[in-house]
Amino acid sequence: MENPRLTEDDRLSCEQVRDLMFLVVTNDLDEKSAEQAFVHLAGCPACRQVMAEHVKLAAALFGTLRKE
Ligand SMILES: [Zn+2]
Repeated sequence: MENPRLTEDDRLSCEQVRDLMFLVVTNDLDEKSAEQAFVHLAGCPACRQVMAEHVKLAAALFGTLRKE
């Protein structure tokens, strides 16, 4: 599988990444955007912390939704 290198233009700002986070945790993001988000997260501890909160939130949310 190909894994093309991201260019400078593909770098996201913290604000953009934070907008994408919910889509990342719900798996609603296309592959390229998800990769861009993860590249940013790898180099940004502040966003990783926010991401961890989103993951917790999503787990809680889906846990609730899936109780049938
Ligand atoms: Zn960031």
